[in-house]
Amino acid sequence: MVLAMPWLGHARTVENGRDYLMVGAATDEPTPHRTCTPQMLAGNRQQVTVHAPPEGWSGEPQALDVFNVFAGEVQLRYGDREICGNMHDARTRDSRFRAGIGMVAVPPAGSHEPFLVSWQTPLKARWVPTLQLGAPSPVQQNDTARLLVRAACIAVAIALALSALMAYLTTRDRSFLLYIGATLVLVLWQAILGGLSGYPEPWLPVGEHGACWLLALTAATQALVLPALWRLNGGDRLLPRSRVVQQLVLCGLMGMAALVPWLDRDGLVVVGQVLQGSFVAGCALSLAVGIWARLRGDAWALAGLAALTPMLVLVAADLARAHWLYEYRVEALQLAITWLLMMAAYALNLSMGRLRQQRDEMRQLAETDMLTGLPNRRAGLQHLAQQLEQVQRDGGPLVIGFLDIDLFKDINDRHGHAVGDQVLVAVAQALRAAVRNQDEVVRMGGEEFLLLLPGMPRDIATGRLEQLRQRITVVCRDLQVPGLEVTASIGLAQWRPGEDDQAALLRRADHAMYVAKRSGRNRVFDGETVDPLLPA
Ligand code: GH3
Ligand code: MG
Ligand code: MG
Repeated sequence: MVLAMPWLGHARTVENGRDYLMVGAATDEPTPHRTCTPQMLAGNRQQVTVHAPPEGWSGEPQALDVFNVFAGEVQLRYGDREICGNMHDARTRDSRFRAGIGMVAVPPAGSHEPFLVSWQTPLKARWVPTLQLGAPSPVQQNDTARLLVRAACIAVAIALALSALMAYLTTRDRSFLLYIGATLVLVLWQAILGGLSGYPEPWLPVGEHGACWLLALTAATQALVLPALWRLNGGDRLLPRSRVVQQLVLCGLMGMAALVPWLDRDGLVVVGQVLQGSFVAGCALSLAVGIWARLRGDAWALAGLAALTPMLVLVAADLARAHWLYEYRVEALQLAITWLLMMAAYALNLSMGRLRQQRDEMRQLAETDMLTGLPNRRAGLQHLAQQLEQVQRDGGPLVIGFLDIDLFKDINDRHGHAVGDQVLVAVAQALRAAVRNQDEVVRMGGEEFLLLLPGMPRDIATGRLEQLRQRITVVCRDLQVPGLEVTASIGLAQWRPGEDDQAALLRRADHAMYVAKRSGRNRVFDGETVDPLLPA
């Protein structure tokens, strides 16, 4: 959609001084009131006479603004002045009015000449027009306030769609695409309903077919809104088979939307009545299922009932013929839809959040050793790879220690597997308490642990591992199992600049641990010193 911007062509810059910009040009066009043609005034028309007060007009200007005429032309007449306007021709309406179709006239003091207004029979019985009469300024302010509310609702919908687009781009979850599609349909529907399709220039090819556009988009809107309300209220969870009915309703309403362009006015009136009925029925069913779900403890149904509340208020006010709804029907409908879009976005983000939480929990489980709560081999190797990347980039020492409990098989055999497990847990706790970062201690499997000591010079790391070796014996004594004496052997290796193979580093640490075992166990062997097992 490209908006024409004719004023750009008329831009003028004043040469001397250059401290302001003049745009536009003197006009030779008459005030752009559209004159009424016989075609505009064809069909069943309802006519209203707006009488002067009993004592006659005061002589002050009078504004008359007509709202809530959703299809067809409105004709306003005062004396020999006559204008026609519809919801989608903002250019041709009186420049003071944007939400309604209005006229300002200055009846002579004491005159009793009435304003005459006519419009086409409304498509829906209760969609009656509202006429506002008064001084030009307050009538225009009311008109502008309505326009602002209508534009704000559309802006919120577009903002929600953009935020859903961001969410889709990060999660690639297709529910966000559905949400965006539905929101855009609702934006179009709001633009037609509130006349913003004609503002500031007509940007939808509505032409003479305002009624078709309105009904087709209302049917499409219902096809999206009713299943959304049903789902939000827990209908899917309580009655899984209702999905088939939802699909049928969706297809039926979309079919109706597709059929609308081929219908005559009587057909359109029937469609209007069907849509009114289906909306009331859909809201009532969603309310019933929402209450049922809530009674069964479904926490999600609260969001559904909250989304439904403004719709129910609208249905009740419509049945009760409430004046405020007659007066502000467009704004009330748009606000209710905006609220629904917000609740749907909330529910969508909530369900995404829960899925993300479940995925994080699964990942946590897959990367954690169940007995000790330490990162398992898989997570440990990932973390080591990250540490290697960092030292390759930033430099600095990286020492690792490979720890193996001595003669652990004997501990199991002599004291039982349960005590063996207790020893593993006690060793894990002692190791974890000695490091800064939780993922710097890893259970590699069985009774083998890996310690990462990034940023620590080798001599200090050797001292730290030596302390740990002694600490293990102490914490296992605290288990107070008679005759239990636990020792460990630790092999130390340091990353060598230029080395990018984590397997080589691990192999050296493992070999150093093997040297520690061969040298009599219960010791730390620094693999970077001369290997006593190698022939001299
Ligand atoms: P070395 O000093 O040479 O390391 O001798 P070791 O007995 O410690 O070594 P070995 O590899 O022969 O035995 C390891 C034992 O650890 C064997 C296995 O049953 C036991 N083990 C492995 N995982 C667990 C566990 O989760 N709990 C218990 N209780 N024992 C385990
Ligand atoms: Mg072992
Ligand atoms: Mg062992």
